[in-house]
Amino acid sequence: MDISYPPETEAFRAEVTAFLAERLPAGWHGIGALDEDAAWAFARDWRTRLAERRYLSVAWPEQYGGRGLSKLHQVVLMEELARAGVPFGLPQDTFGVKMLANTLLRWGTEEQKNHFLPRILSGEDTWCQGYSEPGAGSDLASLTTRADLDPDTGEWVINGQKVWTSGAQHCDWIFVLARTDRDAPRHRGISFLLVPLHQPGVEVRPFRMMDGRPHFNEVFFTGARTRADLVVGGVDNGWAVAQSLLGVERGEEAATNPILFKAEVERLIELARLYGKDQDPVIRQRIAWCWSKVEIMRYLGYRVLTGWLKGAQPGPESSVSKLFWSEYHTKVTDLAMDIMGMHAQIPAGRPPLRTYRTDDPGAANSSASWSTTYQIAFSGTIYAGTSQVQRNILAEKVLGLPREPRA
Ligand SMILES: Cc1cc2nc3c(=O)[nH]c(=O)nc-3n(C[C@H](O)[C@H](O)[C@H](O)COP(=O)(O)OP(=O)(O)OC[C@H]3O[C@@H](n4cnc5c(N)ncnc54)[C@H](O)[C@@H]3O)c2cc1C
Repeated sequence: MDISYPPETEAFRAEVTAFLAERLPAGWHGIGALDEDAAWAFARDWRTRLAERRYLSVAWPEQYGGRGLSKLHQVVLMEELARAGVPFGLPQDTFGVKMLANTLLRWGTEEQKNHFLPRILSGEDTWCQGYSEPGAGSDLASLTTRADLDPDTGEWVINGQKVWTSGAQHCDWIFVLARTDRDAPRHRGISFLLVPLHQPGVEVRPFRMMDGRPHFNEVFFTGARTRADLVVGGVDNGWAVAQSLLGVERGEEAATNPILFKAEVERLIELARLYGKDQDPVIRQRIAWCWSKVEIMRYLGYRVLTGWLKGAQPGPESSVSKLFWSEYHTKVTDLAMDIMGMHAQIPAGRPPLRTYRTDDPGAANSSASWSTTYQIAFSGTIYAGTSQVQRNILAEKVLGLPREPRA
């Protein structure tokens, strides 16, 4: 079954392909074909080009620097970027452009939207996510970082610790969940605060992952401060705001991820050819399994997209996509390791810029690219809600099964 898009989105597709043809150098083989320094230089410059053209904000209202187009236009854009092997922004844009901007569009005050959205688009402000704490991951509502209003200055004073904060060492701002009413029930009395990172009360300590890179950080708040009006969605209403952000994180990818997974599985087939494994019946069967899962994700994505176009907010069903893609991804990268055999143990070439997928043309023969993605893939079953937690959500909220016994 093929699905056609309405004529206005096809006109937009023509605009995007013309832009790509004009901007990309002759003989372009995708960012995966560049060495590491060249790839980063390209990605930074490319982000500027996308922002200028308002391609980073296709579906935002025009008054905040968007194009005022639909989510379907956004999907068309993602399809063409994936086809051309160019990234949609820099890795940290996941937090600023995708999560926070969408959250501000729904919950922010006019002042917050007018101030922050253009700065997110220009890349002037970069953002990270301060949700998890040493004692609060899956059970986020047990967070203990607190924020109190200082009656003298009218500012929030923040004390506590966050952990697993991706990219904080490179960012200017953090959105923080903090307890603002300690007497309220667990899910109430939490606020969503916008906090500048460069101040004396904040200490960011990076720590290294098994691939040697310092991706994560601990962030310590000791009397850190932020302005009283930098609370999003109202004081003590942070749980609702946080949930809608997680919905964006889980739901928006349902429509655009399959496009990138499709590009990745095509690279996998190229990899099998390169290693002379494309006639191996077991490998062929496993590739076919991967291909079929990507197709299922594509139709699942269309369903989520249809919901969006009708104005639905991502709900518990976005857990289906999260669970499906993250577990699929551990399998497809595992297959890449088997195809490469011992070569996978001696990673050569460069790892992918967006460490979560090997979807750049030209990256197929980089064993470093596949090995890094293999190592990272498992984390997809943890961040944005673990597989076990997604299964609980699906069991309880979608299937209506009895609630898990709580301690
Ligand atoms: C790559 C990556 C990037 C991340 N980036 C960020 C970030 O930028 N900002 C941020 O705030 N956080 C970030 N996180 C943290 C992430 O949100 C947490 O790791 C996640 O919520 C799980 O929490 P935890 O690690 O404390 O594990 P825990 O909640 O302690 O869970 C441990 C194990 O117990 C299981 N478990 C827990 N509760 C249940 C239950 N009720 N039923 C069944 N099983 C259960 C879990 O599934 C898991 O297997 C990131 C994590 C990763 C891996």
